[in-house]
Amino acid sequence: MIVLQGLRYRYAQGPEIAFADLSLPPGQGLLLRGASGSGKSTLLALMAGLLSASAGRLEMAGAELGRLSPRQRDAWRGACLGFVPQRLHLSAALTVRDNLALPYLSAGLPVDHARIDELLQRLELQALAPRRPHQLSLGQAQRVALARALLRRPKLLLADEPTANLDDESAGAALNLLSQAAREQGATLVLATHDSRVAQALGGELHDMRLPKLMAMNEAAR
Ligand code: ADP
Ligand code: MG
Repeated sequence: MIVLQGLRYRYAQGPEIAFADLSLPPGQGLLLRGASGSGKSTLLALMAGLLSASAGRLEMAGAELGRLSPRQRDAWRGACLGFVPQRLHLSAALTVRDNLALPYLSAGLPVDHARIDELLQRLELQALAPRRPHQLSLGQAQRVALARALLRRPKLLLADEPTANLDDESAGAALNLLSQAAREQGATLVLATHDSRVAQALGGELHDMRLPKLMAMNEAAR
């Protein structure tokens, strides 16, 4: 369940972005579309609890994010959220397998090796487990980032420009994985993209939300 009501975000050294109201039933996924600079990544960061709204209400999977303390928000994020950021943030010094152990370690949890193996297998990454990120293709690195987002069986799966820099074939594969993983795990999928291939592939399953261009007035305020 996703609810946006009068939601706004103001960058200290940048524009204020107002988002259209939205109310989606439980399980309904969302496609955020719009030109570069229209606020897609900002809205995803708000939905991930990484930014705090300057006004309005945002409800994600039963939590009203603005009402949570920073500590509650961290707990909510750990329990409910899988995030595939645009820059994948894999640790260069660690192997694929150790990159997948890291979320457990940084949350102070025992590493679930069986779950890591399951995802390595499902995403066809077993052979790559001993490699380091610089030894992966972009599509492979994207699969590792997806595996990392899925580890703790999130209720919400957010991905920012998951097809950026991928050729048609890899883009199609990445989108299939996201949508299949969301279905299998019962996760609600939110994708942000300016790539029209995404709407072609998943438009039927996801609610389409198009962000307008920011007003020039806003841009001038920067
Ligand atoms: P999109 O993901 O759709 O390309 P963003 O959410 O990244 O858009 O950016 C929306 C607007 O906010 C843009 O005008 C961008 O320049 C501005 N912006 C993004 N991040 C910052 C920041 N850290 N400080 C100031 N302005 C920012
Ligand atoms: Mg963006």
